[in-house]
Amino acid sequence: MNVVFLGPPGAGKGTQALKVSEFFGFPHISTGDMFRKAASEGSPLGLKAKSFMDKGDLIPDEVVTGVVIDRIAEEDCGSGFILDGFPRTLPQAVELDKALGESGDKLDIVINIDVDRSELVRRLTGRRMCTSCGSSFHVTFNPPAREGFCDSCGSELFQRADDSEESVVNRLKIYDEQTEPLIEYYGQENILKTIDGGRSIDEVSDSISEFLNGSKKHNVV
Ligand code: ADP
Ligand code: AMP
Repeated sequence: MNVVFLGPPGAGKGTQALKVSEFFGFPHISTGDMFRKAASEGSPLGLKAKSFMDKGDLIPDEVVTGVVIDRIAEEDCGSGFILDGFPRTLPQAVELDKALGESGDKLDIVINIDVDRSELVRRLTGRRMCTSCGSSFHVTFNPPAREGFCDSCGSELFQRADDSEESVVNRLKIYDEQTEPLIEYYGQENILKTIDGGRSIDEVSDSISEFLNGSKKHNVV
């Protein structure tokens, strides 16, 4: 099952993708996590990516697409993968379809998480992320059991530089201009499922699981 999680920053893609990955056993591939790791390791690719990420700008298509296409060709993606944060532009979506098609594969489902703009800003400015495993928490909506530390792996939590109000405004504008057109693109491919992401984490997760289980039962994926 090859799944893409689509939606604006703060919609809950990472939160939900991690749950689906744990439940179905497919790798969770978050481009944001991959580039944050590369940046913290100081690799040339990571340092290049960091200059874009810190401002909330997109990393150029040719840089991101190559990294993702190499990643999904790895063995652990053989029976499926969960993409989170990719594709984010039409050229990325076209290149992904092309690469999958060349290996006789395709995307099965694109889950579009829909959330009001004011709620997104609240979610992003209160987000705290794990320095190690990529789990995300929220100071009010999803607080960790022990303040400042990850429930899953115990590592320290941090606030992302690009979750400042200034950067959030830029990221939402970029989403509107470059990512939102993907809703129509995947709608035309008939693989889009929009989920109301304005509910609690568990309610959203139940809707997604119900939909994916139903799709599996009917051999859609
Ligand atoms: P994305 O990956 O789409 O940018 P995240 O999954 O990191 O978003 O979620 C953004 C923030 O919102 C995090 O702090 C997360 O804990 C919180 N969050 C996620 N889903 C919900 C929800 N349904 N209700 C309230 N807060 C949520
Ligand atoms: P995320 O963790 O998904 O919010 O991504 C954080 C940042 O990583 C983004 O604001 C971009 O700078 C960069 N990034 C992640 N995925 C992509 C992508 N598919 N295309 C371009 N830039 C990306």
